[in-house]
Amino acid sequence: MGAVFNAHDWTTQAVDAIVQELGVEETLAIVERSSTDVIFILVGAVSVDEDAAFLRELRLRAPKTVLIGSGDVLREHGKKWVETGLLDAVTLDFCSPSSVRYAQGETADLEDLIYKTKEGVIEGQVSSGKAMSVGLPPHELFKPFPYRFPFAYRRPFASLLTDYGCPYRCSFCVMASLHYHTRPLDEIAAELAHLQALGVREFALWDQTFAVNRARGLEFLDLLPEGADGFGWTCFTRPDCVDAELANAMAAKGCHTVIMGVETAKAESLEAIQKDFSTTDMKTAFTVCRRAGMETAATVIVGLPGESIADIEATMDFVCDLDPDYLSVHTAIPRAGTKLRRQMVAQGLVSADLANMDQSGESGVISSDTLDPKTIMAMRKRFNRRFYLRPKFLVRTVWNNLKNPARLIEHVRQGLTLLSNNRG
Ligand code: SF4
Repeated sequence: MGAVFNAHDWTTQAVDAIVQELGVEETLAIVERSSTDVIFILVGAVSVDEDAAFLRELRLRAPKTVLIGSGDVLREHGKKWVETGLLDAVTLDFCSPSSVRYAQGETADLEDLIYKTKEGVIEGQVSSGKAMSVGLPPHELFKPFPYRFPFAYRRPFASLLTDYGCPYRCSFCVMASLHYHTRPLDEIAAELAHLQALGVREFALWDQTFAVNRARGLEFLDLLPEGADGFGWTCFTRPDCVDAELANAMAAKGCHTVIMGVETAKAESLEAIQKDFSTTDMKTAFTVCRRAGMETAATVIVGLPGESIADIEATMDFVCDLDPDYLSVHTAIPRAGTKLRRQMVAQGLVSADLANMDQSGESGVISSDTLDPKTIMAMRKRFNRRFYLRPKFLVRTVWNNLKNPARLIEHVRQGLTLLSNNRG
């Protein structure tokens, strides 16, 4: 979003109240002092009530400031947030120039935006273009913030996005409901050069599926420098998008960690959630990435519709055999705009108004049609303990990080937090 505003000659500044450990009062004081014309705010499903309370207070302190929100909660409830005056507008695509045009006073034909006008609240059309230029993101605004990313080998690191949305159709994933589009590669090349000039040599590639278009994925790799000027990076992809040739090419251009969704080992569940790949694809992908010298991370979901405790235990067995370097265990959550949400609403498992959700399972775990929230939470914790307390995992993690004490300390710190959060 900073890139979009900068491209229209606005001056931008960034506040990350979480990473800067700012309380509500401190954050409001910053806003009051800076007298900004527009505030762009991310609303989270985990913090939706706190975010709404914050916006009410922000309205009082900065009554003339245009407030624009983003976030998946607002995709479903955004109109209500504008109608009730919490926000002036909600962007459905932060790459879109409509937010800037609205901030400049335009109110006609604004795509991907729900916005307030004198005549009432308008829901703009959803755009369908395949390419979208956003300009150069202002990484310099975020570089001083002390972000941590467990997979980053070095700091500072940056976030990079070469496309937005995802063309796949997984039923639980909000990305499947977004309009998929890509940024021009020459813009990405300029951004990489900008990061180099800032002294950044590490990035997390937040594209939902790296190499979803294989040819474009290879073109992206061609943009990356090699040797001392090269970057280290982490990406997400799907098991059916990576083979040995691509894995080797990624590793040669600095990719050290690949995160892939496994979700479940039950074939019927994979079909039901429309993953469109098999456990065989998973085994092949994790093997070729490991052989190419990259670390791997798997994500799984407990509490999927129709799954029993025995099914989750079978997925635990599968993932331990798969033996990724890291594991992230989520709970099934009916996120806005997903097919899973529509199914759970139809089954009466959740209300259509539900907005406060946390797929990390730290709070707000929801019943599936087969398991209650307490059991789902217990299985999530058991999954983590079973995976991370394996001697093979512990020995490998220490061995792999002996030459990088800072990383080893970070792993120990995260391991202790994980164990404390997953006690039986
Ligand atoms: S889970 Fe991954 S592959 Fe499936 S729609 Fe979401 S981002 Fe795409």
